[in-house]
Amino acid sequence: MKKKPLIVGNWKMNLTLREGIEFARSLSERISENSNIICGICPPFVFLNDICKILKDSNIYVVAQNIHNEKSGAFTGEISALMVKEVGCTHVLIGHSERRQLFGEKDSFINAKIKMALSIGLKPILCIGETLKEREDGKTEYVIENQLRSGLNGIESDCIKDISIAYEPVWAIGTGRTASPEQANEVHSFVRGILSDEYGVNVSNSVYIQYGGSVKPENAKELMVKSEIDGLLVGGASIKLGSFLDIICNCVN
Ligand code: PEP
Repeated sequence: MKKKPLIVGNWKMNLTLREGIEFARSLSERISENSNIICGICPPFVFLNDICKILKDSNIYVVAQNIHNEKSGAFTGEISALMVKEVGCTHVLIGHSERRQLFGEKDSFINAKIKMALSIGLKPILCIGETLKEREDGKTEYVIENQLRSGLNGIESDCIKDISIAYEPVWAIGTGRTASPEQANEVHSFVRGILSDEYGVNVSNSVYIQYGGSVKPENAKELMVKSEIDGLLVGGASIKLGSFLDIICNCVN
């Protein structure tokens, strides 16, 4: 049976605080009426405190865009899992391709962050995805399997229910080039198979696997109807309330 769609908007380094606050207020007015969807937003760190207060009694998750893998210490410029949890985040993106590509994050660091998040009750959304070259070289499954197994290395089966996976082909992020629903579903099914091998079919089926990469109102529905696509991680189209709401509407109707 299809799960309730999980639609998460990643604002990245966009919007002003005032715009973010307005967005959160309007979104909560619209979403609280809609129980057919699970929705989250990932504001920049410095907006989290205000936005968590606004969304405290709503059914919208506030998701941090990143965390460090240590609890505290001499890590100038970094933000800990405890800090984002303290202000009210329930979830965190880990291993986004921009972190991997632009900030050199490696699988072992990503794995350590996932363990840190879980240890304090913050739910990770593990992002994985292949580059265009890797896809063209026929290495998609190899890359996906490596990122998935390394990201989840040492994590016990009973914690897997708290983790979501976001398949985000790097070649589709911010490029306007979306994976076809069939391409996305194929990789999701491959991910589900690995989770099933590792943790059993019931655990595997319970895991949310979201697709991300140039999702727009026009393509949201055709992606969401695919059997293995449980949700969407939306970047560019999530920073305008209108297009984010259209995506949400198109996923439930
Ligand atoms: C993302 O950054 O997670 C993303 C999917 O971006 P976009 O929707 O802009 O491709």
